[in-house]
Amino acid sequence: MVRFVIIGGGPAGNTAATYAARMGADVTIVERDVIGGAAHLWDCIPSKTMIATGGAMSFSRRIEGMGLVHQDALLDIEAQRRRVAEIENHLHGQLTTLLDSQGVRLVTGTARLTGPHSVKIDSADGPEELEADAILIASGSRPRIPDWAHPDGERVLTTRQAYPPPAMPEHLVVIGSGVTGVEFVHMFSSFGAKVTLIVSRQQVLPQKDPEVAAALEDELLRRGVRLFKGARAEGLDLDGSGVAVRCDDGRVARGSHALLAIGSIPNSDGLGLDAAGVETDSGYIPINHHCQSNVAHIYAAGDVSGKLPLSSVASMQGRKIAEHIMGLHTRFHRHIDYEKAASAIFTEPEIADVGLAEAEAFATGRKIRVTKVPYQATAKALINAEPPGFVKIVSDPATGVVLGGSIVGRHAAELISVLALAVTANLKVSDIVESCLAHPTLSEALAEAAD
Ligand SMILES: Cc1cc2nc3c(=O)[nH]c(=O)nc-3n(C[C@H](O)[C@H](O)[C@H](O)COP(=O)(O)OP(=O)(O)OC[C@H]3O[C@@H](n4cnc5c(N)ncnc54)[C@H](O)[C@@H]3O)c2cc1C
Repeated sequence: MVRFVIIGGGPAGNTAATYAARMGADVTIVERDVIGGAAHLWDCIPSKTMIATGGAMSFSRRIEGMGLVHQDALLDIEAQRRRVAEIENHLHGQLTTLLDSQGVRLVTGTARLTGPHSVKIDSADGPEELEADAILIASGSRPRIPDWAHPDGERVLTTRQAYPPPAMPEHLVVIGSGVTGVEFVHMFSSFGAKVTLIVSRQQVLPQKDPEVAAALEDELLRRGVRLFKGARAEGLDLDGSGVAVRCDDGRVARGSHALLAIGSIPNSDGLGLDAAGVETDSGYIPINHHCQSNVAHIYAAGDVSGKLPLSSVASMQGRKIAEHIMGLHTRFHRHIDYEKAASAIFTEPEIADVGLAEAEAFATGRKIRVTKVPYQATAKALINAEPPGFVKIVSDPATGVVLGGSIVGRHAAELISVLALAVTANLKVSDIVESCLAHPTLSEALAEAAD
């Protein structure tokens, strides 16, 4: 029986554990914190829970468009804290039951490699040494904190201290305008806080299609969010009345609280990688298309692998690793195509994309066909009093194969699944057009764009 030891119980680790156990491996998963990982405890789940509350609050401000009278919804910060904890506990219970039912051994402790085939665990029950035929390092990442910032969990927050913070910020300065930064801007501005966003480039979401980023910027400005564009934060002072974030262009953003959202660093220190001969690159563990490190039986997945830092990608890697260890990859043999991973940004408007972006195609000179349809072209958008949104499909002009797409507007993260399937399965725009969709739905905008 294959002895498989996994370090880290986030999406990468727990998915690999379930699949490998189901296929007959003897699986031990070591987690120092909570099974479910940072994804459940600090990242996806608490952030989306609070964003859902923020979304309900901002929706309540729009209901007059539906013939209803609006009364201000008030945020109950303690109820919010309980709601986050309840959802986390529920998911934690569900996951633990699943792993138990598959016969996975769960150990609470901190693990490190002591050799290519041995893992040492320090736990409350004392140390333990395990021998393994295959090892997965799925230790995740943690927020990056610049040396000029000193988060205190009160007024200077990391993303992990914001679910919710002890007091609701009156004026939040968010440092970093990537996915995490803009989600927090949306969350706190929906709760009614004033927000200033430090944007180091000339557009928020610098990695995204400019048209998509512009749609988000318009909404942020409409809400009164102040954007400090082209400004890189380089200092943070606390004074009696609040925080002052100093930028490299001389501007100072003042607020009651500051939140750092400037990326993450891999959890690869203290893992004993040297003892096993595992190489790293800037702290990440480089992997091949089977997620193997330079040591063939030691795999890495999730944020520590330096691929797309998404929970969905981490889970997919976990599944592929289980298949590889158990020899099933030869039958299915589908490597992960990271270029075709769908991703979503839970802002207002919601944003989702997959595959090739229009701007990316232009930059490389690739010939594409782009079709774009506004949400308002569908009856459902009018019925729901939806704010503006659009669907954009990028296809190959010669073959009609769907290469990518972006969706901006409510439920974008759900609707992108159709385009994700099309991109993964090499479907053509005509396949979407020929699908008889339900009516009235927002997905009709997809069919319109494909037509
Ligand atoms: C604010 C925020 C919101 C996000 N929202 C989304 C989202 O909506 N959708 C999405 O797809 N992605 C989202 N992400 C990204 C997502 O959270 C990560 O990509 C995902 O958690 C990575 O999973 P992982 O398995 O690598 O590790 P993690 O979830 O980071 O878990 C790693 C685990 O390993 C444990 N560990 C580390 N070292 C050891 C050790 N030596 N011994 C034992 N245990 C150890 C840690 O305690 C941790 O529990 C978000 C990220 C952030 C910061």
